[in-house]
Amino acid sequence: MNQQLELLIKMQKCDDIIGEKEKLKKKLPEELNSLKENLKKAVQEVEESKKLLEENLKAQNLKEMDIRENKDKIAKYKNQLLTIKTNKEYKALNSEISHLEAENSQIDDELIELMEEESQLRKQLKEREEVKKTAEDNLKANEDKLNKKIESVTAEIEKVREERNSYAKNLPRSIIKRYAALIKHKNRKAVVFNENNACSGCGFQIRPQLVIEINEGNRIISCENCGRILVAKPKTD
Ligand SMILES: [Zn+2]
Repeated sequence: MNQQLELLIKMQKCDDIIGEKEKLKKKLPEELNSLKENLKKAVQEVEESKKLLEENLKAQNLKEMDIRENKDKIAKYKNQLLTIKTNKEYKALNSEISHLEAENSQIDDELIELMEEESQLRKQLKEREEVKKTAEDNLKANEDKLNKKIESVTAEIEKVREERNSYAKNLPRSIIKRYAALIKHKNRKAVVFNENNACSGCGFQIRPQLVIEINEGNRIISCENCGRILVAKPKTD
């Protein structure tokens, strides 16, 4: 086979590898971002639980204050009972006392509900803190690993690029320019194969005369449809 064609095939192999590695390189930061997002969500959920717990404790405090106030009033009224002269006043005060006692028993029930909710919230907070810890550990364990992987893939791409450029040095500028344009505009495929007498790049049927020339491999043949460089399919796959 023509030496130029051989070089072009080698260059395409390099560009295939570069394409794969570029895809991987793009995917790695996405993995890292999803770990960061997980942690962010876990932190938000912990904060939310903390806020709910805080609100619950505040509500409990208010209820306790109400109960204390009512108790003070009850004590005061009970003292007043001792000094009361008329039956009417006595009755009125007594009814006020039982009203306050009923109110306190109601507040007490509400307080118990809040305390039950508190214990649920504490349980939820504990669970969410565990989820957060796991997310933190996950990010920590993978961040370095993924960053190193991104670095190494970048270095690998650079190496393959250098290899490709070393082949290009032995080709005329016009051919390199054409190859580069095809890589850029034709989906990273500049050199394609004769696949059952059709272009493996676009599927266009190859004329019999061109098939013969492709098999001879003495000159660069282009697909008449997509313009890619056509070569014979290697026998050993
Ligand atoms: Zn084609």
